[in-house]
Amino acid sequence: MNSVIKAGESEALPEIIEGPHQALMAEIAALDPISETVLAAMVRAPREYFVPSALRHHAYHNSALPIGQGQTISQPSVVARMTEALRLDRANLKVLEVGTGSGWQTAILLELVQRVFTIERHPTLLREALARLQPRLKTPHSSLNSLSGDGSKGWKVMAPFDRIIVTAAAFAEVPPPLLAQLAVKGVMVIPVATRQNDRDQRLLRLTRSSSAAEFVTEDLGPVQFVPLVSGDGGGP
Ligand code: SAH
Repeated sequence: MNSVIKAGESEALPEIIEGPHQALMAEIAALDPISETVLAAMVRAPREYFVPSALRHHAYHNSALPIGQGQTISQPSVVARMTEALRLDRANLKVLEVGTGSGWQTAILLELVQRVFTIERHPTLLREALARLQPRLKTPHSSLNSLSGDGSKGWKVMAPFDRIIVTAAAFAEVPPPLLAQLAVKGVMVIPVATRQNDRDQRLLRLTRSSSAAEFVTEDLGPVQFVPLVSGDGGGP
């Protein structure tokens, strides 16, 4: 399934939520240097819309939460770090996200850039995420393209991408198709597990140099993600 959502009628969403949301943002900003731009984007995409209703009272805790299919909505401080690391310095960047999950990271990306492409291997999760995201496509300039399938292969017909963000941990190496689909001077942020232990994961940032296929890799520290599973065919 490949669907395109164009900006349509927007549902009124609260701009600022007081109380626990603000406390969480303060906690995040105390842990890592996060720009006002990223924090403001996170506030404009309230996490409570992206967690299962039964867990809504935990939405503003700095922890990952289950979203079904054995998957999780990522920890807020990690979402902040990854969004910051992606260097979203221009609204016209073309961004590929692998691992839509709840759609929360997608919503934050859509606050910062106009073109987001997202891939999720669980059709049910993708369907639910798109239902949450539809009302958020506010301006006629923003568009979200989604694909149900294996994001470790990237999305060749839509490449190259200025930015790639992967929200599940690759095993031992960055998938070569993602490297190939990163634009010159593009930036990719991806957790990669070591070959010895899939829970020993490092968050990597790769920047493609102006020459063809050279990448500068930075290690941004330890993280904990669900695995990036190759092959199609998610759950029901
Ligand atoms: N950013 C999401 C993170 C969800 S967890 C959020 O905060 O909600 C990671 C997601 O990656 C899961 O939904 C999982 O199904 C998905 N995933 C794992 N392997 C994948 C693959 N090869 N291609 C696409 N999605 C994948």
